[in-house]
This record gives sequence, structure tokens and C-alpha cells, in this order.
Amino acid sequence: MLRHSFIALSHSGAMQRFVTGFPPARRMARRFVAGEERDEALSVIRALNQAGLLATVDFLGEHVTEREAARANAGEYLTLLDELARHDLQAGISLKLSAMGLHVDTAFCLENMREIVARARERRRFVRIDMEESALVDTTLDLYRQLRREFDNVGTVLQAYLFRTRNDLAALIEEGIADIRLVKGAYDEPASIAWQERRKIQEELADLCRMMLSADARARHARLALGSHDDVVYNAVIAHALREGLAPDSWELQFLYGIRRNEQRRLVAAGQRMRIYVPYGHSWYPYFMRRLAERPANLLFFLRALVGD
Ligand SMILES: Cc1cc2nc3c(=O)[nH]c(=O)nc-3n(C[C@H](O)[C@H](O)[C@H](O)COP(=O)(O)OP(=O)(O)OC[C@H]3O[C@@H](n4cnc5c(N)ncnc54)[C@H](O)[C@@H]3O)c2cc1C
Repeated sequence: MLRHSFIALSHSGAMQRFVTGFPPARRMARRFVAGEERDEALSVIRALNQAGLLATVDFLGEHVTEREAARANAGEYLTLLDELARHDLQAGISLKLSAMGLHVDTAFCLENMREIVARARERRRFVRIDMEESALVDTTLDLYRQLRREFDNVGTVLQAYLFRTRNDLAALIEEGIADIRLVKGAYDEPASIAWQERRKIQEELADLCRMMLSADARARHARLALGSHDDVVYNAVIAHALREGLAPDSWELQFLYGIRRNEQRRLVAAGQRMRIYVPYGHSWYPYFMRRLAERPANLLFFLRALVGD
């Protein structure tokens, strides 16, 4: 119930104005967001790299409806790619098509993406296209397929809570372009299209990972990144990979910045390839609200801050 309310509030302009101007909320957001400026993100990535963690960087901003705003987002990513290379940081980028002009015009969005993925190739970086709400899945996969005809330094994300994902993944494996981050899914999707029970989503996610690690999928160049902090899921996948005798760097685990920091370091020390998703920028509000929605303890902390307890 609270989860649904917070996801709904992530779309509210009035709430956004209130939360982003409210100092305790800004302080709490800093736990999940590297900073508002690019340099702050670069410092965070440097520290992560020094601790043996790879990174993928997200310039926050989604659902833009103006061409200029989408161009500005694309421009920031181009500079970011240059800066990651200039500082020799071990990091790629993650982005949302709705920030690249998907709601303006699909062809315009594709052009922005082509420019970014081409620059990333020049800079020897990988581009991950995040997956957004279910209404955007078809277009996202369509644009992804178009980009893969030209580039191989781009991948996308599939969400285990959607019924359709098993078929989407099988098709991408078959086409030899399953460069996929698998996640549970962060949006509020109805029971007609998405699993709702935690246990079922855990099983589904672990099973999809096993599908990507199968000999057949690997022969077709499938590359798995598991984006989850859920030890039930990632321990099952780690155990499976060990049983199958897979090299530790044949797949990777990804966590969001600020979540289970001790566990991040423990996993690296145990030889797990780990990448941290590092968001930065002024538009941190929807991202922050989704993180609150994921965890009752965060919600309570936030609500207490709101009422000044
Ligand atoms: C690298 C990465 C990229 C992602 N990209 C996408 C994407 O493109 N599209 C999409 O829909 N979703 C994305 N997600 C979000 C994902 O779909 C889930 O909503 C999110 O990861 C929570 O699910 P979980 O698997 O971590 O399990 P959970 O059961 O939510 O978490 C397991 C444990 O992790 C800890 N934890 C989890 N969340 C938090 C939190 N917010 N604060 C503090 N502790 C927490 C708690 O200890 C919790 O018990 C991404 C997640 C990651 C890690």
C-alpha cells in the first residue's frame, strides 16, 4: 500500500517541489545519489574503483517532453563519457530513453542514442539502457534492436516481474544480442501483466539468470548483469555459476549506490565482479521516491523526518 503511494507520489509535481526544497529529504537523498554535479559523481566513482568496484553512471532526468531538455541530457552524457575516459575511470553509463526524447519523437530519440553510443564506442565504454514502465517496453526493445545492428557496446534491462519477460529474453538470446541486466522491476504494474508476490518474483529472477548462464545462451554471446540486492536471489545465482564452473568474470552483480555497502565490499573480497549504479544530477526526486518505495524502513525514516520527529 505504502509502496504504491510512494510510486504514485514520484509523479507529483507539488510533492517534488516540497521534497526537493526540504533539507532533511535532501540529506536523506544523498544516501542514494552521488551529488547534483558531475564532479561529485566522478569522485564517488574514483573511490568505488579504488575499492575494487566498477561503476555505471546515471545522469538523473526522465520523462522529458521538450527537445531542448533531451538534447541537454544527451550533451551531459557526451561530456560524461569524455570525462570518464580522461580520468581513466572504470565506468560505463546507464540512461533512460524517456530522458533522451522518447516522448518527443522516437526517431529523434534514436538519433540522440546513436550519437551517445558512438561516442561511448570511441571512448571504449558500455551503454546500458534502463527499462522504465511497462508502456515503454516495446519501444525500448525496438530501439535497442536498431542500435545493436550498428553497435555492440550497448545493452538493456529486463524486469522479472513482467509476465512477458521470459519470451523477450528467449528472443534476445536467440538473436544473439542478450546483453541484459536482469532486475525485479521498480514500477507499479497491475496484476494483469506482472507478478505481485515477492517469492514468485525472486524465483522468476533467479530462473531468468540461469537461462542467461546456460551453455546455449553463452554460446550465443549472452552476457548477464544481475541488478539486485536480494541475497536469496544472488546467492542462488552465485551457487549456480560455481556449480557450472563459470569464470567469476563471466557475469556481474550490480547494486545501487548507497545500498548494502558492507555487502558490496564483502562480495568483492570474495571475488565477485561487482558494479555500482551511481546516479547524479538535480532531477533526483523520482529516483529517490522509488528507492523509498522499495523499503519500509526507509519510508518510516522519511515520514519521521517529515513530521519533525
Ligand atoms: C543496478 C541496478 C539497476 C536497476 N535498473 C533498473 C531498471 O532499469 N528498471 C527497473 O525497473 N528497475 C531497476 N532496478 C531496480 C529493481 O527493479 C528493484 O526495484 C530494486 O533493485 C529492489 O529489488 P531487489 O532485487 O534489490 O530486492 P529487495 O527485496 O527490494 O531488496 C533486498 C534487500 O536489499 C536491501 N535494499 C533493497 N532496496 C533498498 C533500498 N531502497 N534502501 C535500502 N536497502 C535496500 C534490503 O536489505 C532488502 O532487504 C535496478 C536495480 C539495480 C540494483
